[in-house]
Amino acid sequence: MAIDFTLTNAQRDLQSNARAFAERMLAPIASKLDRILDPWESFLASREAYREMARAGFTKCFIPTEFSGLGFSMIDIAIAAEELTRIDVNVPTTLLATGLGLQPIIQRGTSEQKRRFLPDFVNDNDGNLLAAFAFTDVGGGANYDSNEPSTGIQTIARREGDQWVINGQKHYTTNGTGWDKTGAHLYTVVCRTDRNQPADESLAVIAVPGNLPGVEVVDVYDKLGHRATVTPAVNFQNVRVPVDNLIGRPGIEGKRVIAGAFSWTAALIGAACVGVMRAAFEFALEFARRERRLGAVPVIEHQNVGFMLADIKIRIEEARYLTWKACHYLESTGGRGDELAIMTKVRCSELAVETVYDAMRLVGVESYTKFTPLERLMRDAMVFPLYDGGNQGVRRRQLHEIFMKPGYHSMLAATGEAPPWE
Ligand SMILES: Cc1cc2nc3c(=O)[nH]c(=O)nc-3n(C[C@H](O)[C@H](O)[C@H](O)COP(=O)(O)OP(=O)(O)OC[C@H]3O[C@@H](n4cnc5c(N)ncnc54)[C@H](O)[C@@H]3O)c2cc1C
Repeated sequence: MAIDFTLTNAQRDLQSNARAFAERMLAPIASKLDRILDPWESFLASREAYREMARAGFTKCFIPTEFSGLGFSMIDIAIAAEELTRIDVNVPTTLLATGLGLQPIIQRGTSEQKRRFLPDFVNDNDGNLLAAFAFTDVGGGANYDSNEPSTGIQTIARREGDQWVINGQKHYTTNGTGWDKTGAHLYTVVCRTDRNQPADESLAVIAVPGNLPGVEVVDVYDKLGHRATVTPAVNFQNVRVPVDNLIGRPGIEGKRVIAGAFSWTAALIGAACVGVMRAAFEFALEFARRERRLGAVPVIEHQNVGFMLADIKIRIEEARYLTWKACHYLESTGGRGDELAIMTKVRCSELAVETVYDAMRLVGVESYTKFTPLERLMRDAMVFPLYDGGNQGVRRRQLHEIFMKPGYHSMLAATGEAPPWE
């Protein structure tokens, strides 16, 4: 019996532990974090919960056991992430962003790089350290791999002897402030190693410790939702790192490093979308069963309300199993089978926005006020299609490229077969 969605006992325990943690540590602060006007203060207000999350082991769950992490499978992470994000998106997103920042090293780093960069995070039992993936240039993100040398990523790493000298301006670098605005503990910086070479020859990812001269946090952006995650602008000015901080080789391999990191988050963001949709459904269901709104019967007895609840619940179930399958396919193909991960990012993110909006329509006018959590969920959900590689500029483009690859066939993901390309 190869297809079996039954959770193991360990996964059930993980699910209930994550749910209990979320109820205990995140529920009391979720709405408060959202209402703090200053984005930096809001981020700081999430610190204690992040500390507790580190103490509970979540911050090393994605680090392989051979480097003393907990080595969770992606499905395990998705199960926990759904429970956490059902209550609050901020603290788990800070964790996901550290995971994203470390993915280039975990997936494609050499043993020496793993030994150099991962132990700090494994031994950080109090959640003091953050990693960040510095991908988006201030000039844009969608065309990062544009193959005309004057276009694409404009952050440049110039080789000088046995060092890379990095110059560029990044923004939306989640966690890029660290906890004190002096910078993340570690950045993985997307750059090009030669301004005159196209992306296919020059795109690269370089590990940059945040305490180096030339790393400067210049601004903390204010956002519509995800108010307690921090998305600063970060400048890299003549930042010098050893040549062996380069992860993989520049060019096609550098593109793979970037794609691999973004496929990991793509699949897991599906779980965050499910968490947010569940919160909206649970609120709408409770409202519909409780409220009559001056009518003779609870509003759930109106057929349109029942049908909307049905549509919402169908979407939640759809999104969860797509996410689990995407996690399984990505992992079982060693990261090569990313088609479903990308589809998960696109589909679940768009479903989340539709679903919270439908929950608002169901609940009616009060959903537009702070009397209900739905307006917060709406603002939180709206970033899902936009971030982590926008669905328009990055994700659909990735799928388009997959469909054009020699050897692609439409049953690859269904059969679990790895694609014939690297
Ligand atoms: C909360 C949050 C957290 C984030 N965290 C991070 C992070 O940790 N690290 C990081 O580096 N970035 C981060 N980002 C940025 C994020 O990853 C962006 O999705 C990414 O940089 C691409 O943005 P974009 O697609 O809007 O691209 P842009 O380059 O800004 O393009 C804008 C729009 O132009 C159109 N477009 C441009 N080019 C094309 C094209 N070739 N084909 C089709 N349409 C096109 C699309 O409609 C696109 O949406 C974050 C953003 C937010 C809001």
